[in-house]
Amino acid sequence: MSGEKIRLNTEWLCDCGGCHVALVDLHEKILNVLEAVQILKCPVLTDEKGYPEADIGILTGSVRTEHDRHAAALMRKKCRTIIAFGTCAVYGGLHGAGLAHSREEIMDHVYRHSPSTRTDFIPDNSVTSLEKMVTPIDEVIDVDLYLPGCPPHPHFIFEGLSALIENRTPKAGQESVCAGCRRTMVKTETSAIKEITDGVPDNATCFLSQGYICQGSVTLDRCLAPCPNHGMPCSGCAGPTMQVLTEPTRDIRTEISERMSRLTKIPYDTVKDHLERSAKTHYAYAMASKMIGNKPTFLIRKWIAEGEAR
Ligand code: SF4
Ligand code: SF4
Ligand code: SF4
Repeated sequence: MSGEKIRLNTEWLCDCGGCHVALVDLHEKILNVLEAVQILKCPVLTDEKGYPEADIGILTGSVRTEHDRHAAALMRKKCRTIIAFGTCAVYGGLHGAGLAHSREEIMDHVYRHSPSTRTDFIPDNSVTSLEKMVTPIDEVIDVDLYLPGCPPHPHFIFEGLSALIENRTPKAGQESVCAGCRRTMVKTETSAIKEITDGVPDNATCFLSQGYICQGSVTLDRCLAPCPNHGMPCSGCAGPTMQVLTEPTRDIRTEISERMSRLTKIPYDTVKDHLERSAKTHYAYAMASKMIGNKPTFLIRKWIAEGEAR
Protein backbone atom coordinates (compact mmCIF):
# COMPACT_ATOMS: atom_id res chain seq x y z
CA MET A 1 0.00 0.00 0.00
CA SER A 2 1.29 3.45 -0.85
CA GLY A 3 0.22 4.96 2.47
CA GLU A 4 -2.82 6.52 0.91
CA LYS A 5 -6.10 5.38 2.38
CA ILE A 6 -8.40 3.04 0.44
CA ARG A 7 -11.51 5.00 -0.59
CA LEU A 8 -14.79 3.29 0.32
CA ASN A 9 -18.37 3.84 -0.79
CA THR A 10 -21.32 1.93 0.59
CA GLU A 11 -24.89 2.00 -0.66
CA TRP A 12 -28.05 0.14 0.32
CA LEU A 13 -30.66 -1.05 -2.09
CA CYS A 14 -33.79 -3.03 -1.15
CA ASP A 15 -32.84 -4.21 2.33
CA CYS A 16 -33.53 -4.10 6.07
CA GLY A 17 -30.51 -2.00 7.10
CA GLY A 18 -29.02 -4.91 9.04
CA CYS A 19 -26.01 -5.26 6.77
CA HIS A 20 -24.95 -1.66 7.41
CA VAL A 21 -25.32 -2.27 11.15
CA ALA A 22 -23.09 -5.35 10.71
CA LEU A 23 -20.34 -3.14 9.31
CA VAL A 24 -20.04 -1.39 12.66
CA ASP A 25 -20.37 -4.71 14.46
CA LEU A 26 -16.68 -5.30 13.79
CA HIS A 27 -16.09 -4.00 17.34
CA GLU A 28 -12.47 -2.97 17.92
CA LYS A 29 -11.46 -4.36 14.54
CA ILE A 30 -13.28 -1.46 12.92
CA LEU A 31 -10.33 0.66 14.10
CA ASN A 32 -7.96 -1.45 11.95
CA VAL A 33 -10.28 -0.94 8.99
CA LEU A 34 -10.62 2.80 9.59
CA GLU A 35 -6.84 3.14 9.74
CA ALA A 36 -6.68 1.90 6.16
CA VAL A 37 -9.96 3.17 4.77
CA GLN A 38 -11.50 6.55 4.09
CA ILE A 39 -15.29 6.35 4.01
CA LEU A 40 -16.57 8.68 1.29
CA LYS A 41 -20.18 7.58 1.06
CA CYS A 42 -22.19 5.55 3.56
CA PRO A 43 -25.93 6.14 4.06
CA VAL A 44 -25.71 5.71 7.84
CA LEU A 45 -22.52 7.75 8.36
CA THR A 46 -22.14 10.45 5.69
CA ASP A 47 -24.37 12.99 3.99
CA GLU A 48 -22.89 12.29 0.55
CA LYS A 49 -25.69 12.25 -2.04
CA GLY A 50 -23.48 11.57 -5.06
CA TYR A 51 -21.19 8.68 -5.93
CA PRO A 52 -17.52 9.69 -5.52
CA GLU A 53 -14.75 7.72 -7.25
CA ALA A 54 -13.72 4.94 -4.83
CA ASP A 55 -11.55 1.84 -4.61
CA ILE A 56 -14.13 -0.37 -2.91
CA GLY A 57 -17.91 -0.22 -3.21
CA ILE A 58 -20.07 -2.19 -0.79
CA LEU A 59 -23.61 -2.84 -2.00
CA THR A 60 -26.17 -4.24 0.44
CA GLY A 61 -29.67 -5.37 -0.48
CA SER A 62 -31.16 -6.56 -3.73
CA VAL A 63 -32.64 -4.78 -6.73
CA ARG A 64 -36.40 -4.18 -6.59
CA THR A 65 -36.87 -0.61 -7.84
CA GLU A 66 -35.63 1.74 -10.53
CA HIS A 67 -33.67 3.56 -7.82
CA ASP A 68 -31.88 0.30 -6.92
CA ARG A 69 -30.86 -0.29 -10.56
CA HIS A 70 -29.67 3.29 -10.93
CA ALA A 71 -27.68 3.23 -7.66
CA ALA A 72 -26.11 -0.15 -8.48
CA ALA A 73 -25.05 1.06 -11.93
CA LEU A 74 -23.51 4.26 -10.50
CA MET A 75 -21.64 2.32 -7.82
CA ARG A 76 -20.25 -0.02 -10.50
CA LYS A 77 -19.16 2.96 -12.60
CA LYS A 78 -17.45 4.77 -9.73
CA CYS A 79 -15.94 1.91 -7.69
CA ARG A 80 -13.01 -0.22 -8.80
CA THR A 81 -14.13 -3.26 -6.78
CA ILE A 82 -17.73 -4.11 -5.93
CA ILE A 83 -18.66 -6.31 -2.96
CA ALA A 84 -22.11 -7.94 -2.91
CA PHE A 85 -22.53 -7.68 0.85
CA GLY A 86 -25.13 -9.86 2.55
CA THR A 87 -27.48 -12.57 1.39
CA CYS A 88 -29.93 -10.05 -0.13
CA ALA A 89 -27.21 -8.71 -2.41
CA VAL A 90 -25.88 -12.17 -3.29
CA TYR A 91 -29.09 -14.23 -3.65
CA GLY A 92 -32.00 -11.80 -3.28
CA GLY A 93 -32.41 -12.64 0.41
CA LEU A 94 -35.56 -13.10 2.46
CA HIS A 95 -37.68 -10.72 0.43
CA GLY A 96 -37.04 -12.94 -2.60
CA ALA A 97 -39.96 -14.91 -1.13
CA GLY A 98 -42.05 -12.11 -2.62
CA LEU A 99 -41.93 -14.02 -5.89
CA ALA A 100 -44.69 -16.20 -4.49
CA HIS A 101 -47.06 -13.22 -4.55
CA SER A 102 -48.06 -10.49 -6.99
CA ARG A 103 -46.88 -6.93 -6.42
CA GLU A 104 -50.50 -5.94 -5.68
CA GLU A 105 -50.83 -8.63 -2.99
CA ILE A 106 -47.61 -7.46 -1.34
CA MET A 107 -48.59 -3.77 -1.36
CA ASP A 108 -52.09 -4.62 -0.12
CA HIS A 109 -50.73 -6.73 2.74
CA VAL A 110 -48.08 -4.24 3.84
CA TYR A 111 -50.17 -1.05 3.61
CA ARG A 112 -53.65 -2.34 4.42
CA HIS A 113 -53.43 -5.50 6.52
CA SER A 114 -50.12 -5.87 8.39
CA PRO A 115 -50.86 -4.58 11.93
CA SER A 116 -47.38 -3.08 12.34
CA THR A 117 -47.10 -1.27 8.98
CA ARG A 118 -50.66 -0.52 7.79
CA THR A 119 -51.44 3.03 6.70
CA ASP A 120 -54.78 2.28 5.04
CA PHE A 121 -53.62 3.79 1.77
CA ILE A 122 -51.31 2.50 -0.95
CA PRO A 123 -48.49 4.92 -1.90
CA ASP A 124 -48.96 6.61 -5.28
CA ASN A 125 -46.42 7.22 -8.02
CA SER A 126 -44.41 9.61 -5.84
CA VAL A 127 -42.91 6.46 -4.33
CA THR A 128 -40.70 4.36 -6.61
CA SER A 129 -42.80 1.41 -7.69
CA LEU A 130 -41.78 -2.15 -6.92
CA GLU A 131 -40.47 -4.24 -9.79
CA LYS A 132 -42.22 -7.55 -10.28
CA MET A 133 -39.29 -9.57 -8.92
CA VAL A 134 -36.39 -9.23 -6.51
CA THR A 135 -33.06 -9.44 -8.36
CA PRO A 136 -29.63 -10.29 -6.88
CA ILE A 137 -27.17 -7.57 -7.82
CA ASP A 138 -24.90 -9.66 -10.05
CA GLU A 139 -27.81 -10.04 -12.46
CA VAL A 140 -27.66 -6.25 -12.90
CA ILE A 141 -23.96 -5.34 -12.59
CA ASP A 142 -20.64 -7.22 -12.38
CA VAL A 143 -19.59 -8.20 -8.85
CA ASP A 144 -16.00 -8.80 -7.72
CA LEU A 145 -16.48 -10.28 -4.23
CA TYR A 146 -19.43 -12.07 -2.62
CA LEU A 147 -19.98 -11.85 1.14
CA PRO A 148 -23.19 -13.75 1.93
CA GLY A 149 -24.73 -13.83 5.40
CA CYS A 150 -27.80 -12.25 6.92
CA PRO A 151 -25.97 -10.18 7.86
CA PRO A 152 -22.38 -11.30 7.10
CA HIS A 153 -20.40 -12.45 10.15
CA PRO A 154 -17.74 -9.98 11.46
CA HIS A 155 -15.00 -12.60 10.92
CA PHE A 156 -15.73 -12.78 7.19
CA ILE A 157 -16.35 -9.05 6.80
CA PHE A 158 -12.95 -8.33 8.33
CA GLU A 159 -11.24 -11.02 6.24
CA GLY A 160 -12.90 -9.77 3.03
CA LEU A 161 -12.03 -6.12 3.66
CA SER A 162 -8.49 -6.96 4.84
CA ALA A 163 -7.88 -9.02 1.71
CA LEU A 164 -8.96 -6.17 -0.55
CA ILE A 165 -6.90 -3.64 1.45
CA GLU A 166 -3.84 -5.93 1.28
CA ASN A 167 -4.51 -6.81 -2.38
CA ARG A 168 -4.77 -10.57 -1.81
CA THR A 169 -7.43 -13.26 -2.25
CA PRO A 170 -9.74 -13.62 0.78
CA LYS A 171 -9.43 -16.83 2.82
CA ALA A 172 -12.84 -18.48 2.80
CA GLY A 173 -13.57 -22.21 2.66
CA GLN A 174 -16.36 -24.04 0.85
CA GLU A 175 -17.53 -26.14 3.82
CA SER A 176 -21.12 -26.29 4.98
CA VAL A 177 -22.31 -25.10 8.39
CA CYS A 178 -22.00 -28.75 9.57
CA ALA A 179 -18.20 -28.31 9.50
CA GLY A 180 -18.38 -25.89 12.44
CA CYS A 181 -21.23 -27.64 14.25
CA ARG A 182 -20.38 -29.59 17.41
CA ARG A 183 -23.37 -31.97 17.09
CA THR A 184 -22.87 -35.54 15.90
CA MET A 185 -24.86 -37.22 13.12
CA VAL A 186 -25.98 -40.64 14.38
CA LYS A 187 -28.53 -43.15 13.16
CA THR A 188 -31.67 -43.08 15.34
CA GLU A 189 -35.13 -44.65 15.52
CA THR A 190 -36.82 -41.25 15.03
CA SER A 191 -39.92 -41.81 12.89
CA ALA A 192 -41.55 -38.38 12.55
CA ILE A 193 -40.54 -34.83 11.61
CA LYS A 194 -40.73 -32.44 14.57
CA GLU A 195 -41.24 -28.70 14.91
CA ILE A 196 -38.63 -26.90 17.00
CA THR A 197 -41.32 -26.38 19.66
CA ASP A 198 -41.79 -30.16 19.99
CA GLY A 199 -39.83 -31.32 23.04
CA VAL A 200 -36.30 -30.33 23.98
CA PRO A 201 -33.61 -31.33 21.45
CA ASP A 202 -30.57 -33.16 22.77
CA ASN A 203 -27.57 -30.82 22.64
CA ALA A 204 -24.99 -33.30 21.39
CA THR A 205 -26.91 -34.91 18.52
CA CYS A 206 -27.51 -33.56 15.01
CA PHE A 207 -30.96 -32.01 14.65
CA LEU A 208 -31.64 -34.16 11.58
CA SER A 209 -31.03 -37.33 13.60
CA GLN A 210 -33.66 -36.10 16.07
CA GLY A 211 -36.29 -35.29 13.42
CA TYR A 212 -35.82 -31.51 13.34
CA ILE A 213 -35.16 -29.85 9.97
CA CYS A 214 -31.74 -28.19 9.98
CA GLN A 215 -30.30 -26.62 6.82
CA GLY A 216 -26.69 -26.72 7.99
CA SER A 217 -25.63 -29.36 5.49
CA VAL A 218 -26.89 -27.34 2.50
CA THR A 219 -25.69 -23.93 3.74
CA LEU A 220 -22.30 -22.37 3.13
CA ASP A 221 -20.36 -21.73 6.34
CA ARG A 222 -20.04 -17.96 6.49
CA CYS A 223 -21.05 -17.70 10.14
CA LEU A 224 -19.07 -20.28 12.19
CA ALA A 225 -22.28 -22.19 12.98
CA PRO A 226 -23.72 -20.16 15.88
CA CYS A 227 -27.27 -21.49 15.60
CA PRO A 228 -26.81 -25.29 15.88
CA ASN A 229 -24.11 -24.72 18.51
CA HIS A 230 -26.57 -22.70 20.61
CA GLY A 231 -29.67 -24.86 20.36
CA MET A 232 -31.31 -23.71 17.12
CA PRO A 233 -31.36 -25.47 13.74
CA CYS A 234 -29.76 -23.58 10.86
CA SER A 235 -32.31 -21.79 8.67
CA GLY A 236 -29.88 -21.29 5.79
CA CYS A 237 -29.39 -17.53 6.07
CA ALA A 238 -25.91 -17.52 4.48
CA GLY A 239 -27.24 -19.15 1.33
CA PRO A 240 -26.60 -22.54 -0.31
CA THR A 241 -23.34 -24.48 -0.60
CA MET A 242 -21.59 -24.70 -3.98
CA GLN A 243 -22.84 -28.27 -4.36
CA VAL A 244 -26.46 -27.17 -4.06
CA LEU A 245 -25.86 -24.22 -6.36
CA THR A 246 -24.00 -26.00 -9.11
CA GLU A 247 -25.47 -29.53 -9.31
CA PRO A 248 -28.46 -29.17 -11.65
CA THR A 249 -30.56 -31.96 -10.13
CA ARG A 250 -29.62 -31.44 -6.47
CA ASP A 251 -31.23 -28.83 -4.29
CA ILE A 252 -32.05 -28.00 -0.70
CA ARG A 253 -34.91 -30.49 -0.41
CA THR A 254 -33.21 -33.44 -2.10
CA GLU A 255 -30.03 -33.04 -0.02
CA ILE A 256 -31.83 -32.73 3.31
CA SER A 257 -34.31 -35.51 2.50
CA GLU A 258 -31.51 -37.89 1.61
CA ARG A 259 -29.49 -37.11 4.74
CA MET A 260 -32.43 -37.15 7.14
CA SER A 261 -33.85 -40.42 5.76
CA ARG A 262 -30.41 -42.03 6.18
CA LEU A 263 -30.14 -40.83 9.79
CA THR A 264 -33.70 -41.72 10.88
CA LYS A 265 -36.64 -44.00 10.07
CA ILE A 266 -38.41 -41.15 8.25
CA PRO A 267 -38.87 -42.01 4.54
CA TYR A 268 -37.19 -39.80 1.91
CA ASP A 269 -40.54 -38.83 0.34
CA THR A 270 -41.99 -37.77 3.70
CA VAL A 271 -39.14 -35.32 4.26
CA LYS A 272 -39.26 -34.08 0.66
CA ASP A 273 -43.00 -33.53 0.84
CA HIS A 274 -42.60 -31.65 4.14
CA LEU A 275 -39.90 -29.39 2.66
CA GLU A 276 -41.96 -28.66 -0.44
CA ARG A 277 -44.98 -27.73 1.68
CA SER A 278 -42.85 -25.30 3.67
CA ALA A 279 -40.79 -24.14 0.68
CA LYS A 280 -41.33 -20.45 1.43
CA THR A 281 -39.47 -21.00 4.70
CA HIS A 282 -36.73 -23.35 3.54
CA TYR A 283 -35.91 -21.63 0.26
CA ALA A 284 -36.50 -18.13 1.62
CA TYR A 285 -33.00 -16.72 1.40
CA ALA A 286 -32.06 -17.82 -2.11
CA MET A 287 -35.23 -18.39 -4.08
CA ALA A 288 -34.77 -15.17 -6.10
CA SER A 289 -31.41 -16.37 -7.40
CA LYS A 290 -31.43 -17.73 -10.95
CA MET A 291 -28.97 -20.43 -9.88
CA ILE A 292 -31.68 -21.86 -7.63
CA GLY A 293 -34.74 -20.72 -9.57
CA ASN A 294 -33.64 -22.25 -12.87
CA LYS A 295 -33.03 -25.75 -11.53
CA PRO A 296 -34.93 -28.43 -13.44
CA THR A 297 -36.34 -29.77 -10.18
CA PHE A 298 -37.41 -26.40 -8.86
CA LEU A 299 -41.16 -25.77 -8.71
CA ILE A 300 -41.26 -23.26 -5.90
CA ARG A 301 -44.42 -21.43 -6.98
CA LYS A 302 -46.30 -24.73 -7.25
CA TRP A 303 -45.07 -25.97 -3.84
CA ILE A 304 -45.93 -22.67 -2.15
CA ALA A 305 -49.40 -22.57 -3.72
CA GLU A 306 -50.05 -26.19 -2.67
CA GLY A 307 -48.67 -25.56 0.84
CA GLU A 308 -50.91 -22.52 1.29
CA ALA A 309 -53.97 -24.36 -0.04
CA ARG A 310 -53.72 -27.10 2.63
S1 SF4 B 1 -28.85 -9.77 4.15
FE1 SF4 B 1 -30.14 -9.85 5.99
S2 SF4 B 1 -29.28 -8.25 7.32
FE2 SF4 B 1 -28.52 -7.87 5.24
S3 SF4 B 1 -29.98 -6.42 4.37
FE3 SF4 B 1 -30.65 -8.48 3.78
S4 SF4 B 1 -32.17 -9.05 5.35
FE4 SF4 B 1 -30.98 -7.34 6.16
S1 SF4 C 1 -27.34 -30.75 9.96
FE1 SF4 C 1 -27.39 -29.10 11.48
S2 SF4 C 1 -27.29 -30.07 13.48
FE2 SF4 C 1 -26.67 -31.58 11.95
S3 SF4 C 1 -24.44 -31.42 11.92
FE3 SF4 C 1 -25.23 -30.09 10.29
S4 SF4 C 1 -25.43 -28.07 11.26
FE4 SF4 C 1 -25.21 -29.58 12.90
S1 SF4 D 1 -26.11 -21.29 11.40
FE1 SF4 D 1 -27.41 -21.05 9.59
S2 SF4 D 1 -29.09 -19.69 10.23
FE2 SF4 D 1 -27.44 -19.53 11.77
S3 SF4 D 1 -26.20 -17.77 11.11
FE3 SF4 D 1 -25.29 -19.61 10.19
S4 SF4 D 1 -26.23 -19.81 8.15
FE4 SF4 D 1 -27.48 -18.39 9.34
